[in-house]
Formats: sequence, C-alpha cells, structure tokens
Amino acid sequence: MTRPSSRSFDAFERAKSVIPGGVNSPVRAFRGVGGSPVFVADASGCRFTDLDGNSYVDYVMSWGPLILGHAVPAVLEAIGKAAARGTSYGAPTEAESELAELVIEMVPSVDLVRFCSSGTEATMSALRLARGFTGRDKVVKFAGCYHGHADSFLISAGSGALTLGTPDSPGITHGTARDTIVLPYNDAAAVRAAFEVHPAEIACVIVEPYVGNMGLVLPQPGFLAALRAACDEFGALLIFDEVMTGFRVAPGGVQEREGIRPDLTTLGKVIGGGLPVGAFGGRAEIMERLSPLGAVYQAGTLSGNPLAMAAGTATLRALREPGVYERLDAAGARFTEGMDDVFTRHGIAHQSSQRGSMVGFFFTAEPVTDLASAKTADTAFYARFFHAMLDRGVYLAPSQFEAGFLSLAHDDAAIDETIAAAEDAVVSLHARA
Ligand SMILES: *Cc1c(COP(=O)(O)O)cnc(C)c1O
Repeated sequence: MTRPSSRSFDAFERAKSVIPGGVNSPVRAFRGVGGSPVFVADASGCRFTDLDGNSYVDYVMSWGPLILGHAVPAVLEAIGKAAARGTSYGAPTEAESELAELVIEMVPSVDLVRFCSSGTEATMSALRLARGFTGRDKVVKFAGCYHGHADSFLISAGSGALTLGTPDSPGITHGTARDTIVLPYNDAAAVRAAFEVHPAEIACVIVEPYVGNMGLVLPQPGFLAALRAACDEFGALLIFDEVMTGFRVAPGGVQEREGIRPDLTTLGKVIGGGLPVGAFGGRAEIMERLSPLGAVYQAGTLSGNPLAMAAGTATLRALREPGVYERLDAAGARFTEGMDDVFTRHGIAHQSSQRGSMVGFFFTAEPVTDLASAKTADTAFYARFFHAMLDRGVYLAPSQFEAGFLSLAHDDAAIDETIAAAEDAVVSLHARA
C-alpha cells in the first residue's frame, strides 16, 4: 500500500480538496484496488517515476496511447516543431490531411475520416451519423464494452436479455436508455433475436471487436462475422469501436486481423500518440452525410489540433517501420507466457489472453467470454497482487477489469524483471495467507 507519509499521498490529499475524488478520470483513484494512487513525476521508455522517486515498469501506458513508449524523441520533436508555429488556429492545416491519409492507408474500411479530441467524441458522433444515415433510433451494444461516457452508451442491460436498457448513471434519461439495447458479448443468437424484435428500428450495432474494457476478452470464432451478417440483413450499420485496438493489434486494427469490414470505425488513443485525438471514419457514402457536406452536425474548436496531429503522425509513421508489430507481438507473448507460468506453478486459478501488445489475466477458473464470466474473477486477490507488484516497482492497471499494454520500449530485460517481481509477489502473498 502507498505509504501514508509519501508525497503521492500528500498530493492526493491536495487534489481531493479541489478535484472531485482527486482525479479527472475515475479509475485513476485506485477504487478498484484500494489505497492511494501513485502520482507521476516523469516518464521515459517503459518506466515512470513517482513523486517520491520510486520507479515503475508501466503496463498502463496512459491506457493505450503510448505504443512507442513514454517521451519518445521522434514524437517530442514533432510536437515541439508544431508548437513553435502556433498551438491552434481554428482554420485548416495540411497536418490534418497528412494524418488522415495515413489513417486511410492503414485502416481497411476507412475512405474518409473526421478528427475530434477524444474517443468519447468519436463514438458519440459515429452514433449520431449512423442514426442520421439510417433514419433509425436504436443502438445495440454489448455488456462490458466501453464506448466512452456519452449518455447512449452508459446503459445497463434490462432484466431480460431482450428488454431495453436502463441508465447506468444518474443524469441519463430513461428516454435515452430506451433506445439502447444491451446484449451479452459473444452471443450472436441474442443479436439476431434483437433484430427480429426490432427489424426496422436498429440504426447500428457497436462493438469493441476485441474487448479491452472488462479486462481483455476476445471474440469467439464467427461472432464478428455474425454481427456483419445480421447488420447487412436488417439494414443496420456495424460500428467497430477500435479506440483501443486501432493501430494497436495490427496496423489496421482488429478489422485487418480478423478480415471483417465495419461500416464505421472509431479511433482514439494510439492515433494521438499521447495527445488528445479521436477520429471516426468509414465508407464515403456514410461519411459524406456529415456537415458541411451533409446534414448530420459535428464540430470541435480544437479538432485537428496541430500539436495533436503532429504527435499522431509521428506515432503512426513509426508504426509503419518494418518488424514493429512482430516486436510488439513478441513482447506481449513473453509477458503473458511468463506470468502464466508463475500463476500455474503456484496453483493460482487464472485465465490469460493476449493479442499483440494487449494483454490480460483474470483470477478465475472459469473461461471468460463475456461480462458475467469476467465477474467471476477474484477481485480481492487482484487487489493484493496489484499492491504486491506496485511495491516491487511494477505498475499494473489498478483494476481487474482493464487490459494491460506493452510498448516498443518494453524490452526483454523489463519484462523479465516484471516476471521475477510477480514470482516474488506471489510467494509473499502465499506466505501471508
Ligand atoms: C478509451 C475508450 C473510449 C473512450 O475514449 P476517451 O478518449 O477516453 O474518451 C471509447 N471506446 C473504447 C473502446 C475505449 O477503449
């Protein structure tokens, strides 16, 4: 546990007096693992240093954006050069077309792309566009998938699988909830059933094609293809929310890896290289419905910001170097095999999964295919393991229900150091139990 005398603890006390809960995004508050969050002083490569001078190997990496590592020279240089020319104009720049051209080259289903400033804006705008294009109101989403914090997505499943959703947060109207249908992930039959009940009302199905927001949960064979087929049959759009997986699991995201073309794709995280960028794109016929070409309104004062475009362009360019994704895959595999081995040798029930540099493990004996099975994980054990790792200089996600991220900066030495820390942590937890 973070020592109550630490500078991070003091910094958290100060933050709590001026920011609700002391954080600007809830997971940072460590509610999922208890204790007091570590405050970052600086970072480089795969490590960061806290206010007390402790160093950690980082497996959060800003929750995904930093696929090249922290403070990468090429990205810093691009940001610096852009900043010297002015930080924002509210008028177009060539930097926007440069990043757009890269996105369109890399992501198979994207003909046209619009930039915004966060993943939340991207999914919110893609939903409006899908509704505007189809003239329909309802959206199908899956329990455990996170699509940002717009009202339409913060909806829980109703009591029966086919009943309409209920608000997940105070402040969301029942009217909004009525238009969101929440189904179990990996349940293609439930999707068909929803279309049969509402054949002409569903504008779109939105899915994290690999789910990274309930831990890492992968699609079963045929699930994504079944979504594609159902959308085609009933005239709905398929939206892949690749805010986390885009440029992460392959240059073209899950759609490239799995060979399925969504109608719209939402992007974020890696696309901004650590600066605030979101994007959504897809078939020209749909994207041309956006204002100023079409009637579907969407805008942003800082959209296409020159610093953000420069960071994103530098990041995507680096990802196009030969061998990059092989290196990311190898790092993810080394981490996962090492952790698996530690847990297995110590008889700790667990499930692990990996796609490239996205990793995840659940402390449960049950295979995890959806939110219900993810919830069988032993969160109390995760919390103890998390703190034992933190004490040993490894920063894992402060929640059982989040994916882990490696970067090109996670070399073999850092990964092996992490696995040795896990061995030591597990031994210490067993000794105490
Ligand atoms: C992070 C995330 C979002 C939200 O992006 P923000 O930039 O945090 O608003 C949306 N969808 C997915 C799949 C994400 O992982």
